[in-house]
Formats: sequence, C-alpha cells, structure tokens
Amino acid sequence: MNILYDDVANIVKWISSFGGLTNGGTTRLLYSAEWLQAQNALKEKMTHAGMSTYFDDVGNLYGRIEGSKYKDEIIMSGSHIDTVVNGGKLDGQLGVIGAFLAMTYLKEKYGQPLRTLELISMAEEEGSRFPYVFWGSKNVFAIANPTDVENIQDAEGIKFVDAMRECGFKFNTQAARQDIKAFLEIHIEQGGVLEKEQKSIGVVTSIVGQRRYNIRLIGEANHAGTTPMGYRKDAVYAFSRICYESINKACAVGDPLVLTFGRVEPKPNVVNVVPGELLFTMDCRHTDKKALVAFTEEIEADMTRIATELGLTIEINRWMDEDPIPMNDQLIHLLEDVCKKEHLNYRVMHSGAGHDSQIFSPRVPTAMLFVPSIKGISHNPAEDTKTEDLVEGIKALTYALYQLAYQE
Ligand SMILES: [Zn+2]
Repeated sequence: MNILYDDVANIVKWISSFGGLTNGGTTRLLYSAEWLQAQNALKEKMTHAGMSTYFDDVGNLYGRIEGSKYKDEIIMSGSHIDTVVNGGKLDGQLGVIGAFLAMTYLKEKYGQPLRTLELISMAEEEGSRFPYVFWGSKNVFAIANPTDVENIQDAEGIKFVDAMRECGFKFNTQAARQDIKAFLEIHIEQGGVLEKEQKSIGVVTSIVGQRRYNIRLIGEANHAGTTPMGYRKDAVYAFSRICYESINKACAVGDPLVLTFGRVEPKPNVVNVVPGELLFTMDCRHTDKKALVAFTEEIEADMTRIATELGLTIEINRWMDEDPIPMNDQLIHLLEDVCKKEHLNYRVMHSGAGHDSQIFSPRVPTAMLFVPSIKGISHNPAEDTKTEDLVEGIKALTYALYQLAYQE
C-alpha cells in the first residue's frame, strides 16, 4: 500500500508547524491565529487534493469526495485540530491528517467512492482555552448550547463569542447531521499499553465512564506538641487510611478500573499543627457503568465509615458522572477483520481518555483506532509515535474506509 513513511512524516511536520513551538511541541488553541491558519491551510490542501471543502458555522472544517451511487450516505473520519497549551504534534491532528492521507490515497487508487467520504477537522475538543469541551463534535449534532459559552472567557479575558467572531464564525444555526453512516477516528493512545505489548494498533471497544469527586474531611486543627495521639482528629491520617484502603481495593479489582486521588490539600499545611481539614479529589473510571457505580458507592461508604471511626466529618461531592460509551460492534469487527487480513499487529482495548468519538457514538455508528504513544506520554512536547506505527494505523483506517465507502 502506498501510504508512505515519508508522506506521513512530512505531513505531521507540516501540520504541527501551525502553532509549533521551539521545544518541538504545539500550542494551537481554539479561535487563535494559529488555529485559523491551520484550518485555512488544511482547507487549501484538501481543495488541492480534489475534495470539495467547507466550514460550518462554528469553524469545523470538512472535505468531501462525493459518492457515485449513495452520495447522501456519509462515511466520515477525522478528529480535532486544537491542542492543549504546550501540547504535542499528534493528539487530535493525527486523526485529521490520517483521514486526509487515507482519503486521498483511496481517491487516487480507486477513483470515486460509492458512498461519500467526508473528512472533518473539528474546531475544538480539549477545553484548553475556554472552559468548555467537545465544542466541535457537539456542534455537528447541534447539542452544544450557545448559552453555555455566551459568558465564558479565556485566561486573558477574551470572550468566547468575540474570539469566534474574530475568526469569522458564529453560533451554529444548522440542524444536527443525520446523514453520517459511519464515523472512524484514529488517535494516539495517550497511555503505555500498546508500546508495552509491542502492538502497532489498538482497536477501541469503548471509552470509559468517569466519576469525579471533591471531598472534604473535617477534623480538628491543634498543637502538634501538646495534643496526645489519642485526642486527635487528624485529617491527614483519615485521608491516608481512605487512600490506602481504596487503592488496595482498586488494585484487587484491576483492569479496566482505575482510581486516582490526584489533588490533596491539607490545612493548615504547616509543620507543627495537627491537620484539621483536608480537601482531596477522586477520579474513578471503568468501561462498565454498573461496575463503576458499585465500586464508587462502596468507596463512598468506606470513606464515611473511616471518617466516623476517627471522629471526623466528611463531605462527598460527586460533580462528574459520565457513562461509558461503547463503540459500534459492526465497526469494531470491521476494524479487526481489516487488521487480520492485512497482517497488522493489533490488539483490542478500551480508551481510558475521552475523545470526540464519545459524542459521535451515541448518535452514529462509530469506532476508533489507536496507535502507540512512546513512553505513554501525551499533552506534552515529548508526545510522539514511531512513524512506522503511524503508517500502520493509517493503513488500517484506509482499508476500513475502503470497505465502508467503496463496497456495496
Ligand atoms: Zn485528542
């Protein structure tokens, strides 16, 4: 197959030059000058490759190769063009350039498809400039609420609405897309599983559900010298027991459950005072909704028991509760078949991170391909994937798009 190592290496270099940093990373935030340059340059490249291109109201960019027989049945592929601050050169944009290489290859080799192939370079996914995520994909399905972004601004005080207008875009007035028959997204894994297992491709079966919490333990701050151990209401001690017991339980359950206490703030956080209060966060993920709910409920009960035993009070605030999102079975099988037939080195796996595909999947048949992240690193200038793995991933995408768009 003519997806060449050099083509892939060159296009990665090209796309990451928009917002490229001297440290090798990329910062390309929604509705910034670099963002607009990247979208416009992609539009030009897609037009040059013979695609008909257009922007929607909010700045999602599309490129179409019209189908000869079923032109209103859309086989779509792509991802997001925005990055985090000081991010890498593959997160999101790999899905855009991968779809571009796949579609242009198919067009050159096989001519016009039966169904319409459509590339999407989504405006935003990361939530890195404004406190809003999945702006791009949500607007494809008209589920983004304009009032959610009307009053938000970036760190410099620039309003979302003004930044959007400055780039020539406005609130979406279009109806939800009804014509998408399949959506495929290729993305970096952002974890270390594929690399550890020496696989080039991950066929994603589902995106994890997540529950996130802010939790406060309230004890009693007191003199570290004059308060005997038996008379203390030590919030750090209570937290350490919660942490130890919960993580042991999580380890016993094992994959795909993960549990993280990422932020811990004891008060007053000084050397000679028994900590009287402690704020911490909990992030728990699982691919199975029932298992996620059962586990977190057990941990909530454990935390309450431990706090009570030690004479502390606890406030548990669950502020995020997102269901796991399964990918489409038929498309998972198609991707597996393609990998088997073409002798691509793959495994089936879930995604522990969120992706645009989670907005697509409840609405249209959706599936994802992963390629390995070197050392599991992402959202960092060091984010990288071996070019030979990128080639393998884009090959799998190309074969799958061929099956979907060129076969009856
Ligand atoms: Zn991404």
